[in-house]
Amino acid sequence: MFDDKMNKGIHEECGVFGVFGVKNAANLTYYGLHNLQHRGQEGCGIVSAVDGKLSRVRGGGLVTEVFNQAKLDKLAGSMAIGHVRYSSAGNGGEENIQPLLFHHSTGDFAMAHNGNIVNATALRLALEARGSLFQTSSDTEVLAHLIKKDGADEHRIFPLLSALDKLDGAFAILIMTPKRIYACRDKYGMRPLSLGRMKNNPEAYVVASETCAFDAVGAEYLRDVEPGEVVTIDHHGLRSNFYTEKCQRKMCAMEFIYFARPDSDIEGCNVHAYRKESGRLLWKESPADADLVVGVPDSSLSAAIGYSEASGLPYEMGMIKSKYVARTFIQPSQELREKGVKMKLSVVHSIVKDKRVVLVDDSIVRGTTSRNLVQMLRDAGAKEVHMRIASPPYCHPCYYGVDTGTYEELVASTKSVEEIREMIGADSLAYLSAESLLAAGHRSDLCAACFTGKYPTDLYKDVDGKSTEKVE
Ligand code: AMP
Ligand code: SF4
Repeated sequence: MFDDKMNKGIHEECGVFGVFGVKNAANLTYYGLHNLQHRGQEGCGIVSAVDGKLSRVRGGGLVTEVFNQAKLDKLAGSMAIGHVRYSSAGNGGEENIQPLLFHHSTGDFAMAHNGNIVNATALRLALEARGSLFQTSSDTEVLAHLIKKDGADEHRIFPLLSALDKLDGAFAILIMTPKRIYACRDKYGMRPLSLGRMKNNPEAYVVASETCAFDAVGAEYLRDVEPGEVVTIDHHGLRSNFYTEKCQRKMCAMEFIYFARPDSDIEGCNVHAYRKESGRLLWKESPADADLVVGVPDSSLSAAIGYSEASGLPYEMGMIKSKYVARTFIQPSQELREKGVKMKLSVVHSIVKDKRVVLVDDSIVRGTTSRNLVQMLRDAGAKEVHMRIASPPYCHPCYYGVDTGTYEELVASTKSVEEIREMIGADSLAYLSAESLLAAGHRSDLCAACFTGKYPTDLYKDVDGKSTEKVE
C-alpha cells in the first residue's frame, strides 16, 4: 500500500481540441470542446493565434458558461487549441486551467494536456535545481520548461522530441506556437488523440481527444496520432515525427468502459460497440435468472443493451438520469456523494415493481453508487436485484490522470466479490473477466492496471518533498 506518497500529480481526465486553417478557429474550438464536455466540467479555455500573437480566454465552469460570442470574438485567428478540465480537490485554481500560455524570447506557445506524467516531480525538482521557477502545480508546465531549457535556439521540433522522450506516463498534448500545432501522444498510447480534416476544406485540420468532436465541427476522421508520435500541423499540411521507437499499445481500458462517448471511435473501435459486446460477454460469463435488464445511465446503457440482446431478457428504461447534476465523483465528502447519487438517478417504479431486475453498471469504484441504486430499486418494489458489472473488480489506483482515489477508497481492493455483494445489498453480483475486457474490443492489449495492478510505466514516490524514488 504505497499509495499515500505516490506521485499521482494532478488528476485530470480532460479533453483537448485543436484546429488549423479555418476562419474564426476559436468558434469551431468552442463547438469541439462542447462535444468533449463529458471529459471535464470544472473549467475550460481556448487559445488562438493571430499575427504572431497568442490570446487566451479561460475560466471555471462549463464551455457554455465560460464563453459567449463577445469572448470568442476576442480570440481571432485561423488556428486555436482548447481544453476542458476535470481536476480533483485542491488542484482547481484558475492558474491551472488550460491551455497554459508561455511567453518566451523565441516566441510564445500554449499547451493543453490530458493525462498525468508520473515522473513530473522528479523532473520538476531537477529543473528547479537548474533555476526554473514554476508558476503552476500542473505537470504540463514541466514539459514547457524541458522544451526551453535544452536548445531554445534550435528548430523547435528537436527540443520538443527530446523533451517528450524524458516524460513517463500518459499524455495527449497539444502545443501551439504562432505558426503551427504539435499533437503529441505518449509512447504507451494510453490517452486517445485523433486527427481529422474539415469536410469543406481539405487544407484545414482538426485534432481531438475523441472523434465525437469531429462531428460537431463538420470534420471527417483521418487517423489516430500514434503512440510516441508528434504530428505537426501547419501550412505544409501534416508531418510526422517519432520521439522514441519504444512504443506500446496500452490504451486506457476505462476510456472504453466509462469515459469516452459512445459515438466516439478509439483506435478503430466504436465505443458503443465495445460496451455492447462487453455486455454480451458479461451475460455469457454470468447469466441471471430475471425478468428485465436495466442499465445505469448513461455510461452503462450500451453494456445493458448487449446483456439484454444476448440473454433475450427485455431491456427496460428502469432508471432515469437528471441532466442537470454534475458527476457525483467530484463531490468531496462521502455524505455529499451519497446524496449526489439520488439527485442524479431515479427509478421508474412501474417498470421495476415486483420484477427480478438485472442492473448493469460499467464499474464499481467506492461502491456508493451501487449500494444506493440497489436500495432505490428495492424501495420501488423490485423483487430481486442482480448486479452485473461490465469490467473487472477495480482494485488498484490509477496514476495516469484518472481520479479514482486511493487503495483504501477502492472497495474491491479490500473486499471479496461476496463481501461487496453483501455491502451493496444485491441478490447476486458478478464482474466481467479480464479476458473478456480485451475480447470485447478484439484487443490484444490495453492498460488495465486498475484491474490487474500491472502498470505499464515505472512508478515513483516522494521521499521527503525534495527527491523521489522508483517504486519497485
Ligand atoms: P462508486 O459509487 O464510487 O462505486 O462509483 C461507481 C460509478 O462511478 C459507476 O457508476 C461509474 O459509472 C462511475 N465511475 C467510474 N469511474 C469513474 C471516474 N474515474 N470518475 C467518475 N465516475 C466514475
Ligand atoms: Fe485507465 Fe486504469 Fe490504466 Fe488508469 S490504470 S490508465 S484508469 S486502465
